[in-house]
Amino acid sequence: MTLAAVLATLTTVGYAAWYAVLCVADPFGRCRHCTGRRNRLDRRHRDCHWCDGTGRRVRVGRRLYDYFRTEYERGQP
Ligand SMILES: [Zn+2]
Repeated sequence: MTLAAVLATLTTVGYAAWYAVLCVADPFGRCRHCTGRRNRLDRRHRDCHWCDGTGRRVRVGRRLYDYFRTEYERGQP
């Protein structure tokens, strides 16, 4: 394995670990569809159906975590 492949692997694993920590510590991210603006006069922000106008949305990783946790709990006797 070359040095470049090792560095690419470590970078990928490091980013995945950082994202997992971020999903636990701060499950909400900024909405990309309305760029998180809080200007009430901006019609696009008020009508944003991704974040309901809050400018924040639940991270995809957190949704996956909640999904698998719920499925696991449903499987418990
Ligand atoms: Zn939004």
